[in-house]
Amino acid sequence: MKINRIPIVDKTNGWSGILAPRAPNPALETNAAADWIVLGGGYAGLSAARRLAENCPDQHIALIDAGMAGENASGRNSGFAIDLPHNVGSSLDELEGSHRFMRLARTAIEQLETAVKTHGIKCDWSADGRYHTAVSARGVQDVLEPYAKELEALGEPFEWIDRDQLGQRIGTDHFTAAVFTPGGALMNPAALTRGLADSLPGNVTFYENSPVTEAVFENGIHLTTANGSLRAPKMILAANGYSEQFGFFRQRLLHLLAWGSLTRPLNEAERAAYGVDAPWGLTPANAFAGITMRYTNDHRILIRQGLNYCPSQAVDPSAYAAFARQHKKLFDLRFPMLPDVEIEHTWSGFVCLSQNAAPGFGQLAPNIWSAVCQNAVGVTKGTFGGMLAADMATERDNPLIGDMLSLGEPSQLPPRPFLDIGVRARFMWELWSNRHEA
Ligand SMILES: Cc1cc2nc3c(=O)[nH]c(=O)nc-3n(C[C@H](O)[C@H](O)[C@H](O)COP(=O)(O)OP(=O)(O)OC[C@H]3O[C@@H](n4cnc5c(N)ncnc54)[C@H](O)[C@@H]3O)c2cc1C
Repeated sequence: MKINRIPIVDKTNGWSGILAPRAPNPALETNAAADWIVLGGGYAGLSAARRLAENCPDQHIALIDAGMAGENASGRNSGFAIDLPHNVGSSLDELEGSHRFMRLARTAIEQLETAVKTHGIKCDWSADGRYHTAVSARGVQDVLEPYAKELEALGEPFEWIDRDQLGQRIGTDHFTAAVFTPGGALMNPAALTRGLADSLPGNVTFYENSPVTEAVFENGIHLTTANGSLRAPKMILAANGYSEQFGFFRQRLLHLLAWGSLTRPLNEAERAAYGVDAPWGLTPANAFAGITMRYTNDHRILIRQGLNYCPSQAVDPSAYAAFARQHKKLFDLRFPMLPDVEIEHTWSGFVCLSQNAAPGFGQLAPNIWSAVCQNAVGVTKGTFGGMLAADMATERDNPLIGDMLSLGEPSQLPPRPFLDIGVRARFMWELWSNRHEA
């Protein structure tokens, strides 16, 4: 089958823009063969390749990606490794589901942290916790108070932070309150993704800048690129929202475009005016109307705001300037004491969701497994999905596979254009009904 939609890698990603240049691994330019192919070099593919290499030390794993490590969604996100479910719920079933998710997410965080420490990956990995914030009294009542109750029911530690305390900790009085949870981690996601790619075991060959343009799944796996081909008996598909192109999860995946900006680092005088020194990260009560923010170790502020439904997976180049202006406006509103701080980088990245928030995980064919569709929590979900797909494919006994399978599979979406009308109407409703959280 011809692959009609190839990821386009632009040069806008701020997280990699602030790092030193990296030399990518060579592209595929021969007719190569391996024991396993892993298609996609984000958190899911990197984790799958690493685990396959550990499970099968005598076998050869070929990891292939259209672009360079750290330039995909995995390198463009807000850099939160999240350990708690977004929606907990209070029934016994829901609480049990939350415990399963936490087991999986914490295993992923442990794996990532081990890799960071073992290989000395310089990605500003830090356990700074997370503020879940509400702008309005209604947001406090509708989201934060139930969330705090659910955390209590789960037995998870948290702190209730009021406006004044929050102002002291994050330097803005924009929010009415926050629930602070100490788990998870923050990092520069491009540096983490690069570091994971550059520390793969010796029996993995990573082909970067190698878009797969054709795939044949008869008598094994046969992939073609512009200048080479790759053959193997078995494959793990980790191509996120592009998996549909390979004939899987058709009419089950939703493509959203998310926007982020990083300011330049604050100078000494600005840091004194700002009055906060420790890094922090916050998520909004409503993901559509609100904004995600971070203060980074190198004294920049991240603004992640704007979520568009984008079934074409194509970005309008004129949107960058508009989002940069919008993010500067949001920054100025929150940090009036920093009027001269410019936005240095603005970028976009694709988020792959399913309607029922289930992952595209499991066995797709006798010789093909998958770890795709991370529902906007890919740092942890991609990492444990990839690891468990490798365990499943190599028949390694792991009780977490049961936890993973219990998350279900992506449900069927209505056909277009009904889907487009429905999703756009839902987005407008979310934005309008949560406008108090903007
Ligand atoms: C702005 C933004 C903020 C976000 N914030 C967070 C956050 O704070 N925390 C969090 O957990 N998640 C966050 N996410 C979501 C997270 O980034 C994703 O869920 C995660 O990166 C998905 O990882 P993945 O490995 O499944 O996919 P990807 O990182 O998308 O990797 C898939 C790979 O497949 C490759 N591929 C596709 N087609 C082909 C082809 N034909 N040939 C070769 N290779 C191909 C692509 O090049 C790509 O590298 C955010 C996302 C965005 C965009």
